[in-house]
Amino acid sequence: MKVYKFGGASVKDAGGVKNLYSVLNKTGIKNTLVVVSAMGKTTNALEKVIESYFANKTKTPPELLQIKAYHFEIIEGLFTINKKEVIDDVQALFDELQDFLKYNKAPNYSFVYDQVVSFGELISTTIIHHFLTAQGIFNFWLDARECVKTDDYYRAANLDWENTQNLIKNAVAGKEVVITQGFIGSNANNFTTTLGREGSDYSAAIFAYALNADSVTIWKDVPGVLNGDPRVFSNTQLLHQISYREAIELAFYGASVIHPKTLQPLQRKEIPLYVRSFEKPEAAGTSVSKGKPLVPHVPCFIVKKDQVLIQLSSIDFSFIVEENISYIFNLLHEYQMPVELIQNSAISFSVCVSNKYKRLEELVLVLRSRFNVEVIENVDLFTIRHFDEKAVKSIHQKGKKILLEQRTQETAQFVLSDTE
Ligand code: ASP
Ligand code: MG
Repeated sequence: MKVYKFGGASVKDAGGVKNLYSVLNKTGIKNTLVVVSAMGKTTNALEKVIESYFANKTKTPPELLQIKAYHFEIIEGLFTINKKEVIDDVQALFDELQDFLKYNKAPNYSFVYDQVVSFGELISTTIIHHFLTAQGIFNFWLDARECVKTDDYYRAANLDWENTQNLIKNAVAGKEVVITQGFIGSNANNFTTTLGREGSDYSAAIFAYALNADSVTIWKDVPGVLNGDPRVFSNTQLLHQISYREAIELAFYGASVIHPKTLQPLQRKEIPLYVRSFEKPEAAGTSVSKGKPLVPHVPCFIVKKDQVLIQLSSIDFSFIVEENISYIFNLLHEYQMPVELIQNSAISFSVCVSNKYKRLEELVLVLRSRFNVEVIENVDLFTIRHFDEKAVKSIHQKGKKILLEQRTQETAQFVLSDTE
């Protein structure tokens, strides 16, 4: 069996759904499990519904009407005859969602969130299931909640691997084409849970792991994984092959390639992951698999914006040693500042962090009682994996002030100030 994953952007309109069918047609329909996200920006729109449900205490948030209109427009664009079944099924899902909002008494935001956002995936897969059926492709609509079992940690649930594996195997056995949802699961009480935003890739990996799939393919609107974000870097190149390890390294430095959570189960069973273009399904794209770390072996550029550089030096010219460093790290942990880069000398210590939880001021106050502290906000952290001199030069040529530069064998990092 092979696993395909189609994200929201790939099925954002009727044309996208037709293209999904054509991709299946061109690449072989048999023995495929298709994991689909909510259509277009539906998850964001459902988040708005939840916000307004809590803020205005309304049982029928107006945003829901737009979401409904959007999906029914897609149905109009897909079905000419035999519309009744799909309309009835989709209507039933909207009714169920409406009823939930009407009768729900649970005040827990995250619980409500999962019960509501999951409808995005349930609706998208229902439409796609009927569309493929109308094209003569017999396919089984699988409710992922029946087999993706998790704990109660709503909005970022953790997987119960044991149960999930068995349930998936049983649910899929003997089926040739399966359509199911990414992102959603259920807990021991059968309440819906979700795996965290952008969790559909992870779902695809979970299904592939349980089924010992031959491969996972993520169909995207880009040709594959590039060696830099084309919105930030020019002359980007397509990477043909990346090892699991290298992909995890790239993700660690901030490349939004593929989430390590998605890679781990695949790496354990050495199931290859392909990232391919749904616009050009004949092109090979990128393969993340066992083998060469990186083909072609070119520098990979990663940028993390809006970082903070904190420079500490001892007040009395004493050395900054283990004791101080462990004190600093404890504080960084306590104030929830992910550390991106460190550099130290005898009497100074620099650290580049993300001010993710906006606790910088508090932290600096504490640090000032023991050190001289200089804080530079809004810096950019550039990382080049497999750097060469040309790549390093391209960073120097950005015309920005380089506040810190660090090289290890494979990786060069630069903290750049925002000003020239
Ligand atoms: N629909 C969910 C989201 O937008 C899951 C996904 O797309 O991966 O976060
Ligand atoms: Mg999405």
